[in-house]
Amino acid sequence: MTWRATVLTLFPEMFPGPLGVSLAGRALAGGLWALEVRDIRNSATDRHRSVDDTPAGGGPGMVLRADVLARAIDAAEVSPDRPRLLMSPRGRPLTQSRVAELAGGTGPLIVCGRFEGVDQRVIEARGLEEVSIGDYVLSGGELPAMTLIDACVRLLPGVMGKAKSGADESFSHGLLEYPQYTRPQEFEGRPVPDVLLSGDHARVDAWRQAEAEALTRARRPDLWAARSRQIPPKSKTGG
Ligand code: SAH
Repeated sequence: MTWRATVLTLFPEMFPGPLGVSLAGRALAGGLWALEVRDIRNSATDRHRSVDDTPAGGGPGMVLRADVLARAIDAAEVSPDRPRLLMSPRGRPLTQSRVAELAGGTGPLIVCGRFEGVDQRVIEARGLEEVSIGDYVLSGGELPAMTLIDACVRLLPGVMGKAKSGADESFSHGLLEYPQYTRPQEFEGRPVPDVLLSGDHARVDAWRQAEAEALTRARRPDLWAARSRQIPPKSKTGG
């Protein structure tokens, strides 16, 4: 079955947007994945087709109504085995391992919030899993949804040139990726590191591993610490 993303949004015209070009776009055109975009406003029932209202208890902005959003979710008729996500700065931060999990399934339903967010009751009543793309606030869930979809799509079988290229990247082994080089062999007095031109694959691999470890240690002590927790230290003989 083709991996499918079903997106609920108030701005369907934003899609496919960046998902329609390059790697993801070619894969979409080639039928390697499918995108279904549904307008939440089609589930509004009043004369003005309103989807939001003022927050209970007061405060600034508007909140997406629970009834309208619930109708939109129900109308999408996604099978129960598909994850139902709500893009939200309050959600669990998205990681490469969660992306790989989502890419391995049949594809999620993704609700894009707007305004101040969505009525809490629809999150609970429809079992939405809140997912954040980082500790900053955007004006809507569409860019976060595209981010998540792009990250998943590039892992789908046949999308990336070499099947292996996803396995080697930043985060896939709990490390940031080693530095990359290409032509010219010398750029403004900076040569490509000798080892990469040696043709000795074992040495190249060892160099890349060491660089990846050094980078991760320096830039992401959080990732480094998590990694050392996962890899138990070798037991010392006689200790
Ligand atoms: N008042 C909310 C923010 C609303 S931003 C709060 O303080 O938590 C409007 C919408 O943009 C959200 O409903 C969500 O769908 C989306 N959004 C904004 N920032 C996001 C982020 N970092 N990750 C995922 N979605 C985000």
